Amino acid sequence: MKFKYCPLCGKKLIPKYSFDEGNVPYCDHDDIMYFDTPTPCIIVAVIKEDKILLLKQSYIFKNSKVLLSGYVTPGESVEKSVHREVKEEAGIDILDVEYLGSEYLEEKDIIMLTFMAKYKDGILNKSSEVEWIGWIPLKDAIGEMEEDAIGKRVVKKVFKSIKK
Ligand SMILES: [Zn+2]
Repeated sequence: MKFKYCPLCGKKLIPKYSFDEGNVPYCDHDDIMYFDTPTPCIIVAVIKEDKILLLKQSYIFKNSKVLLSGYVTPGESVEKSVHREVKEEAGIDILDVEYLGSEYLEEKDIIMLTFMAKYKDGILNKSSEVEWIGWIPLKDAIGEMEEDAIGKRVVKKVFKSIKK
């Protein structure tokens, strides 16, 4: 997000030189630099034996299922976000969270941090923002995820990781 005005005092920001970053929008009243940074999001492939957790959320993709995802909340670690989002959207606990790399989504200015995790315990209990949730055989997952390009790449990484 690019800042033009200070969100705290409303003053117009001025460019301030910051070494490697070049000029950064700066509020001389609050002495804060507003770096132009993408929004961090997490996406996680939750695995239970030979199945993977998929969701149906039409506001994201109309015709396909997706991996569980969510925004990182200020004040929490990314690992904590992964556990929290899975608990909130699916009602279950996970373990062995493993980082699989990141992808930048230009159209939404999002940095997507990708993970896989193992199901630990709990009964699936979807949040109201999810239309459907369920365990799909891993071998069928990519076929069910037509529109979710990032999700499909995550599933391919899961296959690699499991083979190791
Ligand atoms: Zn200010």
